[in-house]
Amino acid sequence: MSATSLAAPDGRVVDYLRLSVTDRCNERCLYCMPEGYKGWQSREDTLTDDEIVRLVQVAAGLGFRKYRITGGEPLLRRNIVDLTRRIWDVPGVEMLGMSTNGVMLEKLAGPLRQAGLCGVNVSLDALNPEIYHRVTGGDLSRVLAGIDAALAAGFERIKLNCVLMRGVNEQEIWPLVEYAAARDCPMRFIELMPLTRRDVLDESNFFPIAEMLEILRAQDEVIPVEKDKEKIGNGPARYYRLKKTGALVGVIGALTETCFCDRCNKMRVTADGKLRPCLGDALEFDLMPALRGGNDADVTNVFLAALAKKPLAHGFKDVYQPARPMTAIGG
Ligand code: SAM
Ligand code: SF4
Repeated sequence: MSATSLAAPDGRVVDYLRLSVTDRCNERCLYCMPEGYKGWQSREDTLTDDEIVRLVQVAAGLGFRKYRITGGEPLLRRNIVDLTRRIWDVPGVEMLGMSTNGVMLEKLAGPLRQAGLCGVNVSLDALNPEIYHRVTGGDLSRVLAGIDAALAAGFERIKLNCVLMRGVNEQEIWPLVEYAAARDCPMRFIELMPLTRRDVLDESNFFPIAEMLEILRAQDEVIPVEKDKEKIGNGPARYYRLKKTGALVGVIGALTETCFCDRCNKMRVTADGKLRPCLGDALEFDLMPALRGGNDADVTNVFLAALAKKPLAHGFKDVYQPARPMTAIGG
């Protein structure tokens, strides 16, 4: 198979791999971490740095070009800067991003940039400190300091992500758009996926992307953007430019956008070495036996088996029951 032809059976090119490096987190987001969650993986069950680098070498040989380090909170992983450098050094890795809550970014942004990290996506669900704390349990000022440090570090792209929740943070939409526009960062709004915390969030908290766009249209002209022209994004997000504000707004409408899955180009590896062809499908393929006992051909076979079973669409609208919460899957 040529390095550029890795495709699911239906023809979707799959060239983007998300690597979860830990299931631990220093925040407790309402939509991600179950109350009192105790299902932490043991250290022995967690991929080592060498195993992560090896699986990236195999993946790059197969045609994966874009990578994102995620978690849990990836900055909690020991030696994260060194691991980032090692992944970036793998031949065939063309883009390496990271998703972080930003809490520890103030000190680490510069070293990560020097290690080769191309960009960061920082979760920012509110600019009001009380609302931010209610959603994440965390301290907004540390995240804002982390974003400032990321801006100073000179990343190619810094994106800000907000999960929309009715009755929780919809009043933050415009403040977030203006904050991001002032820093020339895309602000992305994500529909709440049924991944966890049903005790505190349910369907009544769902806030559709279409309603968010109406809020923007009430004050500005919202113009669809051709992604390739602006060289933004590697995933299924769509983008809009606001005429007056100049803001770039991304939308991730996993629940309401009918052709969302048609644009899916990714697979995920959990911190305990399970390959997931789809976030919204419990199907997993275990890379561990191949990484710990086998050779590279065995690792390749696990990738190809997972690719062959990549679901056509997620099952969020059906009776999807996450076997593990988002923090343990890797966002
Ligand atoms: N800790 C990092 C962070 O918060 O960015 C990385 C991991 S987090 C699981 C990755 C992304 O998943 C975040 O942007 C987060 O907002 C998103 N996410 C988590 N749970 C979600 C849910 N139930 N619905 C939609 N997005 C979710
Ligand atoms: Fe932690 Fe990120 Fe999940 Fe929030 S979204 S609990 S910061 S892993």
